[in-house]
Parts: sequence; C-alpha cells; structure tokens
Amino acid sequence: MWSRVKNVCQQNGLLILSVLAVVIGCLLGFFLRSKHLSEQEVKYFQFPGELLMRMLKMLILPLVVSSLMSGLAALDAKCSSRLGIMTISYYLWTTFVAVVVGIVMVIIIHPGGAAQKEDSEDSGKPIMSSADALLDLIRNMFPANLVQATFQQYRTRSIPIMKPKPAIGQDVLDATTRRVFIYGIQDDNGTDIQNFSLDLTPPPDVVFRTLPGTSEGMNVLGIVIFSATMGIMLGRMGPNGSALVNFCQSLNEAVLKIVAIVICPIVYIRGILQALLISLATSSSSATLPITFKCLLENNHIDRRIIRFVLPVGATINMDGTALYEAVAAIFIAQVNNYELDFGQIITISITATAASIGAAGIPQAGLVTMVIVLTSVGLPTDDITLIIAVDWALDRFRTMVNVMGDALATGIMAHICRKDFVKEGEEIPLICETK
Ligand code: ASP
Repeated sequence: MWSRVKNVCQQNGLLILSVLAVVIGCLLGFFLRSKHLSEQEVKYFQFPGELLMRMLKMLILPLVVSSLMSGLAALDAKCSSRLGIMTISYYLWTTFVAVVVGIVMVIIIHPGGAAQKEDSEDSGKPIMSSADALLDLIRNMFPANLVQATFQQYRTRSIPIMKPKPAIGQDVLDATTRRVFIYGIQDDNGTDIQNFSLDLTPPPDVVFRTLPGTSEGMNVLGIVIFSATMGIMLGRMGPNGSALVNFCQSLNEAVLKIVAIVICPIVYIRGILQALLISLATSSSSATLPITFKCLLENNHIDRRIIRFVLPVGATINMDGTALYEAVAAIFIAQVNNYELDFGQIITISITATAASIGAAGIPQAGLVTMVIVLTSVGLPTDDITLIIAVDWALDRFRTMVNVMGDALATGIMAHICRKDFVKEGEEIPLICETK
C-alpha cells in the first residue's frame, strides 16, 4: 500500500507540488487579505510569480516562430495543406460547438433573470465598434513591419476605454482622463524645490486596451501568419531552404531546453495536467504554451512536427472557453436588461462570439475586451461588461483551462487523423504519432 502511494508520488511529484502550491497560494492570499498589506508589501509577495510569468512569456515568441517555420518546412506540400485545412476546420467547428453549448445552457438556466435591473438606462455609448475591432483584427493579421509587430500591435485609433459605473461608496472615476498630473513647489525665484506626480490611471479592470490578435504588446497573430507562410515556402524550396530550416530547428530545440530549465522537474508529470494547472494559475494560454508543448511531446508522445503546427495556431485562434464565455455573458447581459433576443440575434451572437474568441489574445481577461464585439453586434449596452468584471478573475482561469485543453486535444486528434501522412515507408502506423 505505502509503496504504491510512494510510487504515485514519485511519478507525479511536480503535479502534486503544483496542486499544493495553488492551494497554499489561495489560502495565503485569503489570509493576507485580512492583514491589509501595503501596495509595496503585496509587490514583494507577487515577485516570484512575476518572475515565472516573465520567463514563460520570454519563450512565447521564439517558440511560435521557430516551431511554425521548422514544423511546416518539414512537411511536404500535400501533408501541410491537409494538416492545415483539417486543423483550421476542427478549430472553427469546436469553437462553434462550444458557443452553441453555452447558448443552450444559458437560455435554459436563465441566470440573468434573478439579477434583472430595475433601471436599464444606457449611460454611455460604446467607444469601440465591432466593425473597428474586426478591421483591427484583420490588419493585425498582415503586419506592415515585422520588427514592429514583435514589439507593438497595429493600432489605428486611440486606446479604447470604457467608463465604469461607480460602485457604492466609490468615487465617480472618469476613466477617460488617464493623465499623470504633475505639480511642483517653487521657491521665490521660480526654481523647482520638489515635484509631485499623481497617476490618475484608472484601475486595470476598467481599462480596455488589448487589441484583437495581440498579446502583451506583441502582434502574435501577424507573426503566426508570417511564420506559417515562411515555413510552407521553405518546405517548397527543398535543399535551398535547408540553412534556415536548420536554424529554426536548432532554435526550437534550444527553446525547449530553456523550457526544461524554467519548469524543471516536468519529467515527473504525465499528460497535460501540468499545463491545465498552469493555465488555471496564470489565466494565460499563451504563457502556458511552452508547458503544453512539452507535456504533449514528452508525456503524450505526440509527433513534434504536428505539435509545432497545431499548438501555436491553436493557442492563437482556438479559444473554446472564451467563445463559450462570451456567448453566455452576452445573453446574461440581455437577460439582466430584460431584453428579448430573437433567433437571428442568437445566431449573430454565436457567430460574433466565435470571431471574437479568435481575435482574443491568450492573456488574462482578453475575452472581456473582445466581448465588446459580441455586445455591439446585437445592440446590447457595452457598459454592462462592468457587471462581469467583479467575477471575471475567476471565470478567466477556468475558460483559460478550457482553451488550453481544447488546443491539447486538437493536437492529439490531428496527430491521430494525420498519422498516415507522418510515417515513412515500411514503418508501422502508430495509434498516435510517436516522438521522432
Ligand atoms: N485568458 C484567456 C486565455 O489566455 C483569454 C480570455 O480572456 O478569454 O486563453
């Protein structure tokens, strides 16, 4: 009995530690709340987590670029187009199914009924229209400057900001003024003795500044499209492109080695549980990407050529949890406002939720931003997003987990469907592709 327990603990060492870390983190968080720590003290507690997030984020760009380019270059044209078509169709289909499930459930459960507002006056106009957001998404797919895309997303308009409704007991905050006021004390000669600055930036939960297809100031969607195109072209160039392909393969190997250092003892983890836990803890499917990559490769033995293509594309465009959430949240807002949606509007919500989830970046609370697209498409008040903000930190963790799970499952399914394309002559066809 004890030896079995010991065995399980040995095999799942890091997983158990990760679960413990999350539980201890939650308990500590609740305990420290009661201590009313200063902002500075809170920062010290945040520091180790901040470091881990920085290390994971550092790996996103090299991992996406090198894996897509070397992965696609390694496939022949027939293979890559089949895998590409199957993957994109699968992602669109599962996202749409997620939306439909969400819509059916929210209509049956009717959660907004209990929270109906007495006065549903609309106190503000949407600042960001759905057409603008969609145009931004398409622009971001084709970055005019690749170097700039690495640092900055394409932005045609001023940062969209929404006015929050003041909570009880809270001062009315004009979120449209995000200025830093500086004033100084001067002596009789007009020389500055001391300067004071006051940051009036509204709290992050009322500032909506992420643009579709972008993540942490990086235009991930544009980079994915460029890398995929380059990979296909390199594959077609044959030996002439081998120098760059080799470079990408080496870069990919090196990044995976860094991943191994960042998350070390991952060897003890089985399946994708580790990735799911990390997504729960970070609320970011992009930050989880390196871990999902490693889990699939080492634990689930998926062919790395398939992971290299399917996973980064999925982490960018396949967000089943976000799609489901956006559709449910939009209908919830309609229910709260006692607004009857007709069948056409529900179809509109399902289509725009699918599109909005594709545009959402894999970072915390990105789904909340792109929800503007869904709400404006059926004329619902965008201000009512503030109804959800309070609980979104929790919802975000679970939808991120669904997003990561969707990508990981898709990779396994694609590996299974396309397994015949990936074996050499004379080799046995595995149930799923084995690590090469
Ligand atoms: N946090 C989610 C993710 O990273 C995106 C969202 O807000 O829906 O996948």
